Amino acid sequence: MKNTAIVLAAGSGSRMRSDRKKQYMLLLDRPVVCYSLDVFEKSPRIDNIILVCGAGDETWCRQEIVEAYHYKKVKSVVAGGKERYHSVYEGLKAAGDECRTVLIHDGARPLIDEAMIGRLLDEVEICRACVAAMPVKDTIKLSGQDGYVEETLPRDRLWMIQTPQVFEYRMILEAYRKVIQTDDPAVKITDDAMVLEYAGGPKIKLVEGSYENIKITTPEDIPAAEAFLKRGMLPL
Ligand code: C5P
Repeated sequence: MKNTAIVLAAGSGSRMRSDRKKQYMLLLDRPVVCYSLDVFEKSPRIDNIILVCGAGDETWCRQEIVEAYHYKKVKSVVAGGKERYHSVYEGLKAAGDECRTVLIHDGARPLIDEAMIGRLLDEVEICRACVAAMPVKDTIKLSGQDGYVEETLPRDRLWMIQTPQVFEYRMILEAYRKVIQTDDPAVKITDDAMVLEYAGGPKIKLVEGSYENIKITTPEDIPAAEAFLKRGMLPL
């Protein structure tokens, strides 16, 4: 029974305002998605990887990412879907019955590390579902339609939710199946834990991620991620 990492790279990256999709933009000298693929490839606790790319990009991805950077653990490259959760569902179906635990990860987050993977995999054995997360630093407020403040949320209970998000495979596959079948357009699903919350499942444990584990989303994220990566490369 295996630990499978699903790496999502099927987004359009419209907030990046760039010709190149953000997951393939260069960070230092490598495409963004390669950094998390490197960590999973090297991790002794990961058995295989599924790379989810945009429909029509499969051949390019196989040649220019998987073959060019010699990823041996990538067992399949599959086409994603319209929203992130459609892409995850395609990845989950490709994982197959031999998979026991699945780590779902945004390919746009290059700054994961082995210690984080270890913390999550240890925790999932106990609680069946867990996500990387960090306490928020700013005050978070809810706004009304008019752009005025409606409510201030209690900061000491708020967390920024990151990926990897880690689950018992059969349980999360079943939850996704349920939610995809219902496909309620009123519900905007933005992460995997939410799928389990809607489908009904065990409580989801928050596990320490890191403040460096940013999602490359807008142009100013690129120099920030490069600075973190450079610092990580310095000898101790
Ligand atoms: O859209 P967002 O920036 O939150 O995307 C998070 C991750 O999900 C990115 O790695 C992106 O490539 C992926 N994604 C996907 N399929 C979509 C939308 C996003 O694989 N339809």
